[in-house]
This record gives sequence, structure tokens and C-alpha cells, in this order.
Amino acid sequence: MKAVVFKAAGQPLVFEDRPDPAPARDEVIVAIAGCGVCGSDLHMTGQGSFAVPPDTVLGHEFAGHVVALGAEVAGLAIGARVAVAPFSGCGRCAACLSDRPAACARLEFRGGGYAEYAPVATRQCVPVDESLDLTMAALAEPLAVALHGVNRAGLRPGARVLILGAGPIGLAVAYWARRLGAGSLAVVDRLAAPRPRALAVGATAFIERDASRVPIDAVADALGGAPEFVFECVGLPGLIAEAIEHAGPRATVVVLGLCGEPDTFIPRTAVAKEIDVRTSMLFDLSEYRTALAALEPVDAPPRVLISDVVPLAALPRKFEALRQRTHECKVLVQPR
Ligand SMILES: [Zn+2]
Ligand SMILES: [Zn+2]
Repeated sequence: MKAVVFKAAGQPLVFEDRPDPAPARDEVIVAIAGCGVCGSDLHMTGQGSFAVPPDTVLGHEFAGHVVALGAEVAGLAIGARVAVAPFSGCGRCAACLSDRPAACARLEFRGGGYAEYAPVATRQCVPVDESLDLTMAALAEPLAVALHGVNRAGLRPGARVLILGAGPIGLAVAYWARRLGAGSLAVVDRLAAPRPRALAVGATAFIERDASRVPIDAVADALGGAPEFVFECVGLPGLIAEAIEHAGPRATVVVLGLCGEPDTFIPRTAVAKEIDVRTSMLFDLSEYRTALAALEPVDAPPRVLISDVVPLAALPRKFEALRQRTHECKVLVQPR
């Protein structure tokens, strides 16, 4: 099969032939119809990152149809249309049995989406309705991550909401926050390009900020008061401090950004306002199913997050281009 393979940190991915995968006993092989390119893939493969072993096939936001079954697979047939959660738990603990494998003590991450085929555990597979295009179904993963963040917040109807960062996760959070009752919702980003997408998914204001000033007053003016919920969707040092600075009294700050460097904030600023700081990672399978259902209408608002769809051979070049954020939002790869 064809695959796009990570070789070394700081070097472009390589498009090459790999052996076709065979399923283990409890696995199926999925022919991949679409896979999203995720910011975390860019992080993991950049200069100075050594988290990924050579010859890894990245890509953890994918969907397709089943083409081979392991000997012990039950409940999935050849041809089944599935979206694949990029992690599995032990399958036996209370968390796994209640569809929350992300909370399993033996959580295991699995990629492999930048290829024609991937072996996946059956419990990673969630059925995709006939009405939903399988390439589009790849978008369910970041959408579920965002929904989990909004659920972690305990959003109240009518609330004033601020989102820092207008990448795919920030804009997906904007979509769910509005759908789940946000009264006013502002998105802040360093670039102007995401504005139309932010408004299309439900933001009531978009604020382009310059590097030197945190736009506290502009946000409060746009929302009709200081934010009651702030979502950090950037993942760079300084952003948690910025979220706390924006937050109103007794606000909730939810951190979705995956910052891998030391970061600081001034506790007194948070304590004085009694801010709740929460973090959010991955999702429950019920949230994944909700995300898939939200994508079904052909005019589903989250579909505007897709800025490009490219074949597998074009991925290495596209991947390097995405290291500089421009007008792109979510890029999907279509391996077949
Ligand atoms: Zn992702
Ligand atoms: Zn488990």
C-alpha cells in the first residue's frame, strides 16, 4: 500500500510503499477514505521533537470502510462504514465498558491514517450513517475533541463565551458552544483569515489581535461583559495567563491547547476572581457519535472548517506548508 511516513524530526514526511497490513485477532483493516491533518502531528514531528519513532505512520482523524476481519471479530462485517477513534483502552474496565476509553488506565494511542489501509481494534470503530460521506466523517474526531471541551466547561445557556485561537479546535469549540446555548461568543486570533469561518460556525464577534496587547476591553465590549467561560485553544506559553486575564469573576477557563513547554501565570489574578481552571483531552464515544451526527446534513456548519482535500502523494508538501499558519483550517487527506 501507499503511505506517508515519518522519518526524523525536522524532516519532511515521505510518500512510499509499505506492506499491506494484516489484522490481529481482534482487529479489522480499514480502507481509509479520509484523514485529517492535525496540529498535534505537526508538533510531534517538528525540529527538536523526538516523541515519534522513525517509520511511524501518523494520522489519527480517519474514517473508511472495513476490508478485512481478524479471526475473533464479532459485530463488524466487510464493507462496514466506520469512523475510528484514535485510541483504545483495555476493553474490560469500568471506563471502557461505559464508552469512556480515554479514561482507561491502559489508554493506548493509535495513528496510521496517512495510508491507504490501517489496522484498528474493533472497539475503536463507530458506525457511520449511509447519509454521511466517509471522507467527511474524518472531521468527527476534532469535532468530538471540541464537544468534550464544551462539556467539561459545564456551559450555561446565555453565557458569555470567549475562545482563544481560531484553528480547527477553536472554531469547533465555537460551533458547539453556540449550539449548546452560548449567548454571545467572541473568537480571538492573531490572523484575520479565520473570520468568515468563525462567523459561519456561530461566533457573534471575531477579534484580530496584535502581538503586543491582550484585547481585554474589545472582548468585553463584544460580549456585553467579561467572559464567563474562556476556552484556550492555542497551546503556546502565555495563553493560560491570557485566558485568566480575560475571565470575569468566578469564570471557568478550559484548557484544550497542548503546550509542551513550561508556562507561567500569576495565581493571584486567578484567585482574586475565583477562576476555575479545567483541562480537556480526547472525548467519550458518545461525544464522537454526536459529532458524527452533527456532520450529516450537507450544509452542516462544521463542514466549513475544511479548507482543502489532498491526495496522499501531495501530503508531505502540504504538511510542511501547514507549519506556517496562513488561510488554512482543517486539511483532509484522501488516500484512495
Ligand atoms: Zn487531532
Ligand atoms: Zn479500560
